[in-house]
Amino acid sequence: TMAHSEALLVLENFIAGKFVPCSAYIDSYNPSTGDVYCRVPDSGKEEVEAAVKAAKAAFPIWSSKSPLERSQILNKLADLIEHDLEAFAQAESKDQGKTITFARTVDIPRAVYNFRFFASSILHHTTECTEMTSVRCVHYTSRAPVGVAGLISPWNLPLYLLTWKIAPAIACGNTVVAKPSEMTSVTAWMMCKLLEKAGVPHGVVNVVFGTGAKAGEALVCHPDVPLISFTGSTLTAQRITEKSAPHCKRLSLELGGKNPAIVFDDADLSQCIPTTLRSSFANQGEICLCTSRIFVQRGIYSEFLKRFVAEAKKWKVGNPSDPTVDVGALISKEHLEKVRSYVKKAQAEGARVLCGEGVDSLALPTGNQKGYFMLPTVIAEVKDESCCMQEEIFGPVTCVVAFDTEDEVIGRANGVKYGLAATVWSSNVGRVHRVARRLQSGLVWTNCWLIRDLNLPFGGMKASGIGREGAKDSYEFFTEVKTITIKH
Ligand code: NAD
Repeated sequence: TMAHSEALLVLENFIAGKFVPCSAYIDSYNPSTGDVYCRVPDSGKEEVEAAVKAAKAAFPIWSSKSPLERSQILNKLADLIEHDLEAFAQAESKDQGKTITFARTVDIPRAVYNFRFFASSILHHTTECTEMTSVRCVHYTSRAPVGVAGLISPWNLPLYLLTWKIAPAIACGNTVVAKPSEMTSVTAWMMCKLLEKAGVPHGVVNVVFGTGAKAGEALVCHPDVPLISFTGSTLTAQRITEKSAPHCKRLSLELGGKNPAIVFDDADLSQCIPTTLRSSFANQGEICLCTSRIFVQRGIYSEFLKRFVAEAKKWKVGNPSDPTVDVGALISKEHLEKVRSYVKKAQAEGARVLCGEGVDSLALPTGNQKGYFMLPTVIAEVKDESCCMQEEIFGPVTCVVAFDTEDEVIGRANGVKYGLAATVWSSNVGRVHRVARRLQSGLVWTNCWLIRDLNLPFGGMKASGIGREGAKDSYEFFTEVKTITIKH
């Protein structure tokens, strides 16, 4: 259905500093109403070719600027986004379905901070130097930007994750062609409007909108794009790896997770319960770092479950633009159906759904009846082999199961193909260190969740990814190192 009252928002690609219309468009839905409200360019090879050409042409000048000059431009861009924070937050909420509160407090502030952070960190890298006095040689390393970086991002944290790639890529002196998710393209398009004012030269940042199969794959297969930074699903990453292999491209892959939370019987439940609710349901559970397997030690299992379910029921689902709402709409009708199907499968296997989907009724405001909403759902007594305990659901669904010993829970927590993030709750300091070291997970949070120092590596093990991002890691990924030896 089409929204009749409002004119459709029509996006254009941003190539060589100009907005250019496309010959074909994709409909984009407002997840909270089910209406088509925006049209996104359906770019393909031709548009990607033009963008790569522009990025290549801009590379010599941009890469020869000093880090300080680039840093000042990144800071200016951060200021401009921050100045429009409310407009960006409104747009992100409408386009993605996330609550306005989350967009205001997490997505857009983090997009601003991504630029500020890399504007600062780029000034502080040093290279290595060694001496071999016996042969009178000095060795040192030198780092240079690689060229045109292809950046592909998902729909869950649209501007947040796209800027987490654009900022380090251009801070290092690369030029970029970015392809946001076709489902959430609006804030990237809004950012393009600020680039000129920030002083980003034409062609340094190009944004091509469209689907993964057409626009994304054209970028991955382009011979003049030596580097691809991708955040998205493990399945897409496999395809990207195959497609880029003939070109020997450098890949950074940030993928899915099936993140465990381990709650020992000495955990401070007054901290653990509210944080674990957030780690399960924040952003509708559509965060790669969300926990969806909660292992609770037997002695406190029933108390935990009782309190957790009682609190989960208080999460308010509804119109994302209402600042009192905790859970907005899921990204699409298809995704909502997929998430719901997991709950049905769990029930069919004999698990107990304690609240949410299929158990409680969901009352929605009149304007949101066709939106893609779902109640926070807690499932208990799920077998470890169940698809609900093995596959990434990426919605407001979490499984709670009991365990007895430390060894047992580590084995079970590690018993999935993913290895992105884990959360450990215990007041025993020896235990948290011991358990953290044994978990197969790129990130381990103990007695907290989602607290990040961008200086340190971010990324997953196993099927959760290849490579890390962070101050030093992104710098290394977005530059090519050379070792130079001088005999004197
Ligand atoms: P997705 O893999 O479907 O899409 C991600 C991006 O890749 C989109 O821009 C899409 O258009 C593009 N794409 C799809 N097929 C492509 C192809 N063949 N070639 C090139 N590009 C292609 O993922 P999604 O559904 O948008 O996002 C959700 C997934 O992202 C979840 O699995 C989630 O865990 C993961 N994620 C990971 C992180 C992390 O940092 N590890 C962060 C956020 C999301």
